[in-house]
Amino acid sequence: MAKQQTLHCSFCGLSRDEVKILIAGQDGHICENCVEHAEEIIEQELGTSTVNKHVFPSPNKLTIKKPIEIKKFLDEYVIGQEDAKKILAVAVYNHYKRLNQKIENDVEIEKSNIIMVGETGTGKTLLAKSIARMLNVPFTIVDATVFTEAGYVGEDVESMLSRLLQACNYDVPAAEKGIVFIDEIDKIARKSDNPSITRDVSGEGVQQGLLKLLEGTEVLVPPQGGRKHPEQKLIKINTQNILFICGGAFDGVDKIIARRVNTNAIGFNVNKAMQEYQHDNLLHFVNAVDLKHFGLIPELLGRLPVITYLDPLDAETLRSILTEPRNALIKQFTRLFEIEGIELHFEPAVYDFMVSRALEYKLGARGLRSICESILTDAMYELPSQKVKHFEVTLEYAQRKFSNSKLSMLKVA
Ligand code: ADP
Repeated sequence: MAKQQTLHCSFCGLSRDEVKILIAGQDGHICENCVEHAEEIIEQELGTSTVNKHVFPSPNKLTIKKPIEIKKFLDEYVIGQEDAKKILAVAVYNHYKRLNQKIENDVEIEKSNIIMVGETGTGKTLLAKSIARMLNVPFTIVDATVFTEAGYVGEDVESMLSRLLQACNYDVPAAEKGIVFIDEIDKIARKSDNPSITRDVSGEGVQQGLLKLLEGTEVLVPPQGGRKHPEQKLIKINTQNILFICGGAFDGVDKIIARRVNTNAIGFNVNKAMQEYQHDNLLHFVNAVDLKHFGLIPELLGRLPVITYLDPLDAETLRSILTEPRNALIKQFTRLFEIEGIELHFEPAVYDFMVSRALEYKLGARGLRSICESILTDAMYELPSQKVKHFEVTLEYAQRKFSNSKLSMLKVA
């Protein structure tokens, strides 16, 4: 009697009984696991993914809002920082206008890459992110501190383009009109204002590496990031129309500005009010010369022609940040409770309490979230198991929960 042959997956060898589906081909079979695996390999090789694909509009169909409308959009997400918003709105408008212009005359509009100077947590990343959201273009955030000069341990600067490609599922034309936010640009300042004698591979070396990218060039990037290696397929990407926005705290730049402003003032009759204004808002006067003194090389500054600043956040701004932006923290928590069927309400004094703790503990806007969490975690833990329809956060409750939290031990002297 002929023995019945058991069918097997020709790829993994599993038998018919061990898999759910076995698809027959001309000379073999494939199981559902191997189909999935094959799909992953195809995606990796071709850089295409069909899952969760966000479709970016075709780059020539980018509709660009007027600067006033861009600023209005930013107002919905970012509190204060009026100058930065205005300057960014104009720079972004000009950048995309430049992309859409017909190349018929000899006037070449240069790229308006931007540099933002301001303490950490004042909204630099939020601004860049909001702009990308408004334009619906690919966006990525990279940290300048991870880069080293090509050939040294660390990441090549080109890897930021791999991230941009990943952010748009390897849609190269979309990536070529995207936005890259380079954070902590101040951390790659060279150690002194003079060109270095010894090699500075994580500072000046990286700045040098950035020059071509910022200006616009064709780069071959490894799709998965990291270092290029000979067997890897590389993707060609042109950075000519990518907008680079850099941000940094530039700790100590105020002293450099003060020195410059005071020197300039000698011989002029600077009135007292002006002097006071200067003292409180030194960052408002920041320019490329100050950043050069700080340690950015002139060539890099030349490719970042738009400079703007962000103000430190005062109590009033922090309070607005809590409740006003479109996805303000309080709105987010209220929504979380609402999904649970619970109406959340805060005594207004609780907001002031949160703000004063954020200021006292020097946590800035980023700290507001941790403070909210520390106050609401117990409620979020317990209430879903109770039949509560309303929850009131009183000042006494907030103070008690906060002082019991680990956060309260963080106080800065
Ligand atoms: P930076 O990049 O300047 O270090 P971020 O933009 O990452 O700071 O800000 C940290 C968080 O603080 C943001 O997610 C946002 O919730 C909040 N935040 C900071 N500044 C503002 C602002 N001006 N308006 C609204 N939210 C802000």
